[in-house]
Amino acid sequence: MKKHNFYAGPSILPESTVENTIAALKDFSGTGLSLMEISHRSKQFVAVVDEAVALFKELLNIPEGYSVIFLGGGASLQFCMVPYNLMGKKAAYLNTGEWASKAIKEAKLFGEVAVVGSSEDKKFNYIPRGYTVPADADYFHITTNNTIYGTEILEDLEVGVPLVADMSSDIFSRVIDVSKYVLIYGGAQKNLAPAGVTFAIVKDEILGKVDRVIPTMLKYSTHISKESMFNTPPVVPIYAALQTLKWLKEMGGVAEMEKINIRKAELMYGEIDRNSLFKATVPAVEDRSRMNVCFVMNDGFEGFEKEFNDFATERGMIGIKGHRSAGGFRASLYNALPYSSVEALVAVMQEFETLKK
Ligand SMILES: *Cc1c(COP(=O)(O)O)cnc(C)c1O
Repeated sequence: MKKHNFYAGPSILPESTVENTIAALKDFSGTGLSLMEISHRSKQFVAVVDEAVALFKELLNIPEGYSVIFLGGGASLQFCMVPYNLMGKKAAYLNTGEWASKAIKEAKLFGEVAVVGSSEDKKFNYIPRGYTVPADADYFHITTNNTIYGTEILEDLEVGVPLVADMSSDIFSRVIDVSKYVLIYGGAQKNLAPAGVTFAIVKDEILGKVDRVIPTMLKYSTHISKESMFNTPPVVPIYAALQTLKWLKEMGGVAEMEKINIRKAELMYGEIDRNSLFKATVPAVEDRSRMNVCFVMNDGFEGFEKEFNDFATERGMIGIKGHRSAGGFRASLYNALPYSSVEALVAVMQEFETLKK
């Protein structure tokens, strides 16, 4: 039976990413050696990093004056690296979910944190609006896509202070204006590569402004000046990331991807809103994530949750159980998930509705 992969992360990747990485694990770039066995400083691997950086810049239309680096430690290490490198006395944060809360917790280790808005009062089911960002904040940190609760900030905000974004789960899913941000980072394992590599897009001029001593490994400037080769980078995930970037380009780039993602999300939310058994957890249409669609059993049907999960799993739907802190269901519709997988899930929801009515 065909499996439809709705996991939230690590998650579905393009077939070509998996196939090409397997091939390189056996013979990397005609070297006769495995990708696992080659020096990160070999000319063949340096070429991989260079091409990946170039494709990042091309696909996201990154302006001059920005560096793209590959790091270890996951997005979670960025929660600490961001304030370490950028916070003088004060920074502003928007609390839109668990990842945002974790970022806030780390930032508090370095100075004053103004949490200018939070949706915690309603289990993070909306994007706060109408807040004011203090003009003396060194930066404003947002989580553009809230992977666990299924909300997304779909515009590039203008707040008057430098903008920093965790885009772990929506990078390359829609067109963004990189010039509106001073730093964009994310773990690669949602939309780009297997776990193990983190990307950061850094505006060079924002660095070097804080007085504190920063350990060498935690300084963005270290990794920028050594072109992601200060220490051994995660070679295999970077190779896989390059395959995904090539696939994205072949698909027509981020604008094309965004069109498909809008269609997938519309199909999915359309069915949830129509089907009497289910209910979306994010009521405001404009706040709904295109990447992680969260839903629960509708009022009166709560008892069917486990049954539907089993029913869908038996029909090849993998990974639709909601995050342990959110409950219900979550269908992740990352770039590599085909439209036909959304159609398959919708068909299963309709079949279940027919059975229960
Ligand atoms: C998954 C995720 C993280 C955590 O990433 P790690 O690489 O596991 O540290 C952080 N932020 C967001 C938005 C995520 O989706």
